[in-house]
Amino acid sequence: MAGSGLAALFDAQYRGSRTQVEVPLALRRDRLLRMRTLLDENGAALAQAVQADFGVRSPQLTEIADLFVLRTLLSHTLKALPKWMKPVKVRTPLYLQPSHAYLQRQPLGVVGVVSPWNYPVQLSLGPVITALAAGNRVMLKPSELTPKTSALLAELIGKAFAADEVCVVLGDGQLATGFSSLPFDHLFFTGSTAVGRIVARAAAANLTPTTLELGGKSPCIIDASCDMDQAAIKIAHGKLLNAGQTCIAPDYVLLPRGSEAAFGEAFAKAVAKLFPTIAGNPDYAAIISPGHHERLKALLVQAEGEGARVQVLDPGAAAGRPESRQMAPVLVFGAAADSKLLNEEIFGPILPVLPYDSLDGAIEYINARPRPLALYWFGTDTTARDAVLARTVSGGVTVNDTLMHIAHENLPFGGVGESGWGSYHGEAGFLRLTQQKPVLVSSKWARGDLFYPPYGKRFDQVMG
Ligand code: NAD
Repeated sequence: MAGSGLAALFDAQYRGSRTQVEVPLALRRDRLLRMRTLLDENGAALAQAVQADFGVRSPQLTEIADLFVLRTLLSHTLKALPKWMKPVKVRTPLYLQPSHAYLQRQPLGVVGVVSPWNYPVQLSLGPVITALAAGNRVMLKPSELTPKTSALLAELIGKAFAADEVCVVLGDGQLATGFSSLPFDHLFFTGSTAVGRIVARAAAANLTPTTLELGGKSPCIIDASCDMDQAAIKIAHGKLLNAGQTCIAPDYVLLPRGSEAAFGEAFAKAVAKLFPTIAGNPDYAAIISPGHHERLKALLVQAEGEGARVQVLDPGAAAGRPESRQMAPVLVFGAAADSKLLNEEIFGPILPVLPYDSLDGAIEYINARPRPLALYWFGTDTTARDAVLARTVSGGVTVNDTLMHIAHENLPFGGVGESGWGSYHGEAGFLRLTQQKPVLVSSKWARGDLFYPPYGKRFDQVMG
């Protein structure tokens, strides 16, 4: 789409948002219900499109990780919306009484959404639903790496919404550059930290506030007090869901020195249980593109070249279909400190295992690196747990499991530092895309005149 097409779509939404500033509950509900119908009628087609884009990815995975999440978000939002939209009274200090004050919750206007390919339905429509609930108009730019899903989203949204309510624009990085240069009232970006920096710069030129949902390296700490088998299956599930292509997947494991072999064994058992075969197993997603597949293989080649030991876990072995880009889970022991594997987000089924000698050492390792999107801790020693929680800062945490904090509708979801800023889900998302306008209603009995000049003696009486 040419720049003029983008500008025309934006202008129509912008005009609409300035002429219809008040967006009543009934209209917001109607938009959310249209979204629900879209999902109800087209969930299966969307799951098929995702499968076609990945090559291998079971429709059930899309059902759980994309569609179920969106249905839950819609139900929660529809139920809570009347309360969220209400003005919020605030206490008024004595010197301003009997005036009263409240926060009026209003739409921001036009919200831009840029989404990635890994959960292409959830991460596109989740922010759109949140923006609509807050009364905004929305332009969505989904990923070019899932062309079938993105085209279907464009078609379905085009049928369900007027272009000045919600529209989808399709294109690659070049179009995305034009997109993020539009003077949105808010730009909601989900993607890599590298592109997040570019988006933040483009938005700053327009003073457009952003929400950046980025990536990074999420650590998983195994405490000496943990049950290794239980930890291993939960880590394997979180790591291998979508073949590691999950923003909050455990990126690496920190464990007490000496327990590497026990973890390797327990992890291999867990993989065999979850994925009796890898090649041809639709539950085990393919790597999204040849480029990402090559990137992951190169990480392993580099690590091995530098002396790391690589443990490939392919329980079904043989019968590989290399063209499917299904990459077997891999544990890596002894990776070099400056290897790419330990310094770049992995975003695939490779799990480096790093021993620590003391809890302090593990905490220092984490704190010497950019703040992670998620952190996981496994064990029963609550003193150790609380030390890790108190002395590390991350976007979110699940204790004794992986991923699950993202599924809690009352927990805000987002990053911190290089893993992003701003959070959404539940009321946090509604507020992120809402202007909370402070309003003071002055009473005729209010003594504002106490502060008028001439100050003279009266000043001392009032301030003293
Ligand atoms: P990406 O940053 O390459 O692309 C994301 C989107 O940005 C795509 O739609 C792309 O077209 C667009 N884009 C590319 N260049 C752009 C530019 N110059 N200006 C504006 N937009 C541009 O990310 P990806 O490969 O699609 O997704 C994987 C990354 O996303 C990983 O780092 C992962 O951790 C992260 N992620 C984060 C979350 C989260 O909620 N925090 C969720 C999923 C994925």
